[in-house]
Amino acid sequence: MKYALLSDIHANLEALQAVLSEISSRGITDFICLGDIVGYGADPRACLETVRGLNPRIVQGNHDYAAAGPVDLSSFNKNARLALLWTRKQLDSAGRDFLKSLPLTAEVFGATLVHSSLKDPGRWEYILNPRDARASFDLLLNEICFFGHSHRPRVYREEEGEITVEEGGRIELRAGSRYLINPGSVGQPRDRDPRASFGVYDSAEKKVEIMRIEYPVEKAQEKILRAGLPPFLASRLAVGR
Ligand code: ZN
Repeated sequence: MKYALLSDIHANLEALQAVLSEISSRGITDFICLGDIVGYGADPRACLETVRGLNPRIVQGNHDYAAAGPVDLSSFNKNARLALLWTRKQLDSAGRDFLKSLPLTAEVFGATLVHSSLKDPGRWEYILNPRDARASFDLLLNEICFFGHSHRPRVYREEEGEITVEEGGRIELRAGSRYLINPGSVGQPRDRDPRASFGVYDSAEKKVEIMRIEYPVEKAQEKILRAGLPPFLASRLAVGR
């Protein structure tokens, strides 16, 4: 079974469409979504509808949670806060209810899904280094966990207590190893590569591939500016940070 891995779409419809057309050209029809469909970008409604139409296995991200309801936004920086307030106004009650209903963790064919970290997932801690990865490996009951949140493609492998890290590409999943895998961000990469990032997980062949694809960045930027969202949210897309 092949699954497309999508994370941190962040209301960037241009990036999402480019990724979906690549996935469909590969004949993949099953989806895993690791959260943050909305927030930052100018197309929250269209991205939400598109993702729901994919019928994915899905978990909730911190922006999904914050956009869905009247929750405290003080943990978000100013640009994120302004975008979340704007996003709330764009969503209808069905969209908000859907985002609210998403679970913090899920399971697919022996793999765990979480947006941030397995350590108290609702506190949205980042996995940015092997030490952060350790805390999640200690709580992981499966061989594989797919996660997002950092907007950086990463594969952490644990074997006999040792953790190594790779930044994407084709990974053969080895028996006896455990993995924490972040396919990177579709709609707002932060690893200095502006191309949309996504992954493919082949559960039968035990392989993961993390890929990058170009999309019309200027179009997404224009929409952000036209919506009156903070200009930084547009400019960052061109540099991938
Ligand atoms: Zn995010």
